[in-house]
Amino acid sequence: MGKLVDIGMASCPTASFLRYHEAVEADDHSEPAIGPASGSTPGSAWAGLKDDELLACRICDLGVRIAGSELEGRVAQFQEELAARGLAFRPACYLGDEWFSPAGVPAIAIPFYLAHPRLKTLEHRQMLEVEGGTPEWCQQLLRHECGHAIDHAYRFSSRDDWRRIFGSPDAEYAPETYQPRPYSKGFVRHLPNWYAQAHPDEDFAETVAVWLSMKPEEWREQYRGWKALEKLQFVHSLMEEAKSNPPKVSRGRRISDASKLRKTLARYYAERRKLYAEDFPDFYDADLRVIFENGEPHGESAARVMRKNRAALVASIVRWTQQRKYTVDMLVRRLMQRCQQLELTAPRDQARLSYELSAYLATLVTNHLHTGRFKRSV
Ligand SMILES: [Zn+2]
Repeated sequence: MGKLVDIGMASCPTASFLRYHEAVEADDHSEPAIGPASGSTPGSAWAGLKDDELLACRICDLGVRIAGSELEGRVAQFQEELAARGLAFRPACYLGDEWFSPAGVPAIAIPFYLAHPRLKTLEHRQMLEVEGGTPEWCQQLLRHECGHAIDHAYRFSSRDDWRRIFGSPDAEYAPETYQPRPYSKGFVRHLPNWYAQAHPDEDFAETVAVWLSMKPEEWREQYRGWKALEKLQFVHSLMEEAKSNPPKVSRGRRISDASKLRKTLARYYAERRKLYAEDFPDFYDADLRVIFENGEPHGESAARVMRKNRAALVASIVRWTQQRKYTVDMLVRRLMQRCQQLELTAPRDQARLSYELSAYLATLVTNHLHTGRFKRSV
């Protein structure tokens, strides 16, 4: 298992992500112990800066805190949910560079950009969406990360009974390339993309998330007849144990603590955008030529037609595939660029073209979801 086990739903760890995080960690030599969030939001003079000026700021200089931000209430709500389920366990929450729970540490890192509206705006402009930016989404991710954090606290996944139910936590960790079975009843559904199927640790985190979000009579009803019910019942018994026993682990290192990250926002975004960008080999050319066949000789350029329809295309593909908006938008932009290089023109029947394009893009994105690549190379 790497230093970083998890980073939440859509930002699934790939090998390059893990490398990226190790690089982040290498920047950070301090090892503060976890503890309750404290302090207050200092004056943020940078909030009035333009994007390019703000991007020159270092993350550690932003002075963002959970306390005093909108996250304070969201973390409090999450803690009330833990109390309502009878748990005394409270994972320490701190600001990091992504959603994750550090391996072996009963803590939750929340991305720093959620702690200030100006940073949320920048995140949206840079990545086209803000993961966990709404109250509901934030609660979903807190519950999911809590599943990892409570496992780190009680070391449940080292037990034989855990492994019999969820499988080996040493299984290969490749959430970007897992092949989910959408109709499987062996897994709960909490985060999109059947994320519980990505890895035994994700399966457990998702099962804990469902256990937290519903009363026992609700999940028993909703998952009646599902194999996943066995997992929920097992999690229920583990949580009963947690109610009457102190955690085995209560401290640990805050990996990627935002207050220690000396990289600039510009570098942070350059790295993340590179991470999500795909290789774009020219084997899409043949498909594009088919889609734009019968193009009018001096008609409107294919790239221009795609540009006009881009927002609607991206929105509907994101809605139905639940893939990252940034990933889909990058795909559409690159296809547009390629159409321009190939000097393709649009056919007269643009309605038909729209159907062809949306079906093609949805297929590419679904392939990406299931294989980690937009197009199967074999
Ligand atoms: Zn996870």
